[in-house]
Amino acid sequence: MRIATYVQNGKRHVGIVSVDGQHLTPFRLAEESAQRGALALIEALASGAALPSTETTPVPVSSVRLEAPLPVPRRNLWCVGRNYHAHAKELQASVFKDNDSNPESWPIVFTKVPECVVGPHDDVQVPGAGVSEQIDYEAELAVVIGKGGKNISRDHAMTHVFGYTVVNDVTARDVQMRHQQWDMGKSFDTFCPMGPWIVTADELDGARTRVRCWVNGELRQDGPTENLIFDIPTLIETVSRGITLYPGDIIATGTPAGVGLGMKPSRFLKAGDVVRVEIDGLGAIENKFV
Ligand code: MG
Repeated sequence: MRIATYVQNGKRHVGIVSVDGQHLTPFRLAEESAQRGALALIEALASGAALPSTETTPVPVSSVRLEAPLPVPRRNLWCVGRNYHAHAKELQASVFKDNDSNPESWPIVFTKVPECVVGPHDDVQVPGAGVSEQIDYEAELAVVIGKGGKNISRDHAMTHVFGYTVVNDVTARDVQMRHQQWDMGKSFDTFCPMGPWIVTADELDGARTRVRCWVNGELRQDGPTENLIFDIPTLIETVSRGITLYPGDIIATGTPAGVGLGMKPSRFLKAGDVVRVEIDGLGAIENKFV
């Protein structure tokens, strides 16, 4: 099942995406539940409730504005740095220089604030001069947690996955590196395009898909998720060590090689650029930088 959050006639809805991706069938949700996007459904299912019923008449996707499936996640998004070998190598001289002693014993984990999430076709704001001169893209598969838990073992981790979505972990590189902790350079307003929907875990094998990114039509990133250094069960085990995960929590699994900082010379994003991120079996998001 694919679950989308969208706005139609000024009202937010949550609906099932048709097999051909052309129609949405809305769930019958109270208005305050629909305001929370797919989170309302994820929490209901995690607590053992049945899926709510749906309306009988689908609406064309072309008649609505798709939003991020979780328009404002319940709390910061968990994100993983340096999780593809080739990407770690391309940023060895810059971002990862202090982590070379034993880079593969534990994942690098940071967060993005929930308010930086925008929809799959929304604009991303390039900050004003003097704030950052190094805006970069990071195409990523994001895991959406279903059943919560704490100290989840690798062996049980996949039973906690509700599904997957696409994110662009947009990054202000100069700010990321300036502050040691990455959260500021990762959390600028609009710096987390997400969507176009959530695909449930029964319909996509997150361990065997492919993440691609184009800038103005030029293919920049192309990585199979088989190449993750820390796989999805390990990431869930790591993030839930001593910390309770909740339904709707998001773990962005890291980006493949090919980011702008890793090019020689570096190529950062500017106003007018269009970045498309696509994951096989999931869908694509495409955002203009303005
Ligand atoms: Mg990232």
